[in-house]
Amino acid sequence: MSNISENILRFRESVEPKATLISVSKTKPISDLEQAYETGQRHFGENKVQEMTSKWEHLPKDIKWHMIGHVQRNKVKYMAPYVHLIHSVDSPRLLKEINKQAKNNDRVINCLFQIHIAREENKFGFDKQELLDYITSEAFKELSHVSITGLMGMATFTDDLDQIRKEFKSLSSLFSKLKEDYFTHDEFKELSMGMTGDYKIAIEEGSTMVRIGSAIFGSRNTH
Ligand SMILES: *Cc1c(COP(=O)(O)O)cnc(C)c1O
Repeated sequence: MSNISENILRFRESVEPKATLISVSKTKPISDLEQAYETGQRHFGENKVQEMTSKWEHLPKDIKWHMIGHVQRNKVKYMAPYVHLIHSVDSPRLLKEINKQAKNNDRVINCLFQIHIAREENKFGFDKQELLDYITSEAFKELSHVSITGLMGMATFTDDLDQIRKEFKSLSSLFSKLKEDYFTHDEFKELSMGMTGDYKIAIEEGSTMVRIGSAIFGSRNTH
């Protein structure tokens, strides 16, 4: 068995059933994804719309494609026909465009709000108050072709495990609050947090989806 298949099986064993394993295949060739697919892996994460779309064209259609990177509005139309879940909704304008393209394709697109929890300024996402203002607005309530199924967040890139845990805890508590107060329980159920370096802490803090790249496919040399 190849390394990739072994890694996939090992990760699935350690994260399921608590969390869904999303194998993050960005920059990796189709042949690597095929090895993962053969083990039964169906959830793949990509961070560029064009790259994801070209992989979607070449691979079996029962793969569930997860967009996890920052999305430019003019790219939404390329993934609207097939994307399974967009984790990285970081602005009202982006969600409005997703709604429009979903409508054009006669489907409802599942989305997570990305929340800014890290110390780094360069990471994308809503601030908590900004999100609360938005989801209580008329503009949000008018969107008929998106389904908000949860939240996504990325912790600070640091060795300070307490800091990481604190950030995941704050995302987890926002998730519970929104589930209680604003969304329907059946629909709002995914908490996407945890990557290669911090997925164990993320699961302890309630993650339902981990996004693992380098520990499965090896390090990425280009980006
Ligand atoms: C690349 C990426 C991952 C996977 O990162 P690894 O550290 O390689 O596991 C997870 N989430 C997002 C948003 C990413 O861009």
